[in-house]
Amino acid sequence: MLLSPIFLLVVHIFGTIACSGCYGPSDLNQHARLVRRMQPEALNATTKPRGPLEWGQINFLHTTDTHGWLAGHLKERNYGADWGDFVSFVKHMRRKADRLNVDLLVIDTGDLHDGNGLTDVTTPNGAISDGIFTEIDYDLLAIGNHELYVTEVAYHSQANISRLYGDKYLTSNVQLLNRDTGEFQDFGSKYRYFTTKHGLRIMAFGVLFDFTGNSNVSRVTKAEDMVKQPWFRSAVNFRKPIDLFLIIGHNPVRLGVSSGTFGTVYKSIREMRPDVPIQTFGGHTHIPGFRCVRRDVNRDSSPGAIVKRWDGLP
Ligand SMILES: [Zn+2]
Ligand SMILES: [Zn+2]
Repeated sequence: MLLSPIFLLVVHIFGTIACSGCYGPSDLNQHARLVRRMQPEALNATTKPRGPLEWGQINFLHTTDTHGWLAGHLKERNYGADWGDFVSFVKHMRRKADRLNVDLLVIDTGDLHDGNGLTDVTTPNGAISDGIFTEIDYDLLAIGNHELYVTEVAYHSQANISRLYGDKYLTSNVQLLNRDTGEFQDFGSKYRYFTTKHGLRIMAFGVLFDFTGNSNVSRVTKAEDMVKQPWFRSAVNFRKPIDLFLIIGHNPVRLGVSSGTFGTVYKSIREMRPDVPIQTFGGHTHIPGFRCVRRDVNRDSSPGAIVKRWDGLP
């Protein structure tokens, strides 16, 4: 499986600051902060970066389908980076983006547990581990189908991830039963309109594929119905200017995947707004890939691990 550029850069950073020992420099003249940060038992990668990352006017880091693999894949050396490495990496990249005067958005598209004991040893799954996703300050997140199978998991996700991230947690077509009122309410936010640090005006949606295996406390609206709803059409024709549409979601971006509904959302936006670029970030298939439609780009990052995909748009 090919490495993502981001992973390679992580390895490169560690390689260039490594010293002979893990616990301090042997040369006393060396500055103390040049101590190797990698955990002593962590595996180093077997390949090196193929080249520097190209930064654009707006850049994205994307995780999806982490499924509890927060310790990395210990038996696959090139997937050995753990979640702590990624948290550090994001901090470094945010600083670098500031130095370059460009935007960096960090995105996750769901399935935060189910697959590894680190997240699944608790009841409900993710009860303790979900807290780790609050350490990154994501700009946008979307819900996965694994947040909706079990009723307790759904309520836990809403109370911990959705409430914490507020309007950054995008659930355009997912609702949850309010047990006090008996009514279904938006799980998170239907859309987010925001202006980036460097002035790009973005309209973002988070669309889950037409999932039907959820417990009866949640409701998933089919994409073909969602695009007809007045709130969606108003958001696409927003009263303020839009420089870029971002469609994120736990949803395959590849053509020909029968469960994917990004095409429906994309087509609907394109019909109403033919000239505004659209960028998508998907998930769920656990197969990394992307496709470009003229100046629009669709991404799907996900080999069931901590996956980071780098994108820089000119
Ligand atoms: Zn998944
Ligand atoms: Zn999934």
